[in-house]
Amino acid sequence: MGSILQCMDCGQQYPINQLIYTCDHCGGLLDVRHDLASVKHTINRELFDARLGSNPSKTPYHSGVWRYKELVYPDLDEKLIVTRPEGNTNLYRFSSLQNWVGSECLYLKHEGENPTGSFKDRGMTGGVTQARSLGMKQIACASTGNTSAALASYAAQAGLRGIVFFQNSNVAIGKLAQAVAYGAMCVRVDADFDRNLELVRELSIELGIYVLNSINPFRLEGQKTIMFETIQQLDWNVPDWIVVPGGNLGNSSSFGKALCELFEVGLIDKLPRLAVIQAAGASPLYRAYQNGFEHFESMKAHTVASAIKIGNPVNYAKAVRALRDTNGVVEMVTDQEIMDAKAMIDASGIGCEPASACSLAGTRKLIAAGIIHPSETVVGILTGHVLKDPDAVVNYHSNTMEDVVANHPNLLHDVGDDVQQIRTLLKSNLA
Ligand SMILES: *Cc1c(COP(=O)(O)O)cnc(C)c1O
Ligand SMILES: [Zn+2]
Repeated sequence: MGSILQCMDCGQQYPINQLIYTCDHCGGLLDVRHDLASVKHTINRELFDARLGSNPSKTPYHSGVWRYKELVYPDLDEKLIVTRPEGNTNLYRFSSLQNWVGSECLYLKHEGENPTGSFKDRGMTGGVTQARSLGMKQIACASTGNTSAALASYAAQAGLRGIVFFQNSNVAIGKLAQAVAYGAMCVRVDADFDRNLELVRELSIELGIYVLNSINPFRLEGQKTIMFETIQQLDWNVPDWIVVPGGNLGNSSSFGKALCELFEVGLIDKLPRLAVIQAAGASPLYRAYQNGFEHFESMKAHTVASAIKIGNPVNYAKAVRALRDTNGVVEMVTDQEIMDAKAMIDASGIGCEPASACSLAGTRKLIAAGIIHPSETVVGILTGHVLKDPDAVVNYHSNTMEDVVANHPNLLHDVGDDVQQIRTLLKSNLA
């Protein structure tokens, strides 16, 4: 038996190459399901270790996604794969950041080191590959920015027409610039992300366009590899906690699926706990968590972290499943906490965009609350690159943000062409 699509609610199955995004019977979200019972006998840690650091001649296995092809898309014809390659991102450990959050063992996995600067590339290689497999010629997404940047890049590489829908305000300039540069058709709509996603879904069916938002289950298959790679980088040791920002909840969902599958095939023997961190102004999952997932209410989203400014996450049901499977928790952090945590990550020399800093801010809060113990091993996911949102950096450090005070400012110094003035400035600032 090969891979299939399966509804997470009613269990209805569909052929893997059917053009379908949600269940025809009940509207539920679809999962890609592989025949893990037979895949299990073809993989082991040594196979994946042997592919590490391989040369482009070993394509696609030099990709941090396709290294795990057996767990991502086992029966796929390799010739269809569109890869930059992606993944192979670093795991950092800084004592300054550990001290700041009160952890004895904190790793940060920097997904901003992907080809277009965010983890979205891991999903996009899966989704664009499926577009090719289906013979689609046009691909589209609605995006807060990073999905568009990734889609534009992979569409260009695959020779497909890329179409991206942005809201006409608050799109971080680095992301908009990428989509334009890589040649996608860029449509700015006078509507927020949640509405843009509705529009894309409606128009795509009508116009024969393949939708690559994270409702697309093939994207989540690619994003699973963040977990595979993290655990491989820890020499197949399982951390106690995985901490990840939550917006549309594609990552949270895919992490839960990845961990359950690693367990099922016997590559790990316990699961880490998942901690999903939302911005206070875009926290529908957090609110539902507080009532034991009894009811869900969407909200109008507001946050400086534009990548997670989402009030109606499409993958809500899958994220709840992931949290239940991993005994997970949900926390929320204010824009102030996000930007202060970002300043700490930036000052450590690696940097990240605002949304990514939820991982550090959330870890700090969960340790202070006694939920994460200082001796537990934590892996925080940094989802995007510092240059994605340069305005956020400059505005924070010049203390011109509306609702955020710069608690860790690195002030810019303006001086005239005057050696004495500059000398005085340097002397007063240097040891
Ligand atoms: C997309 C994105 C997120 C949110 O991820 P979800 O899977 O939608 O929850 C967080 N940070 C960055 C940088 C992103 O691009
Ligand atoms: Zn169904």
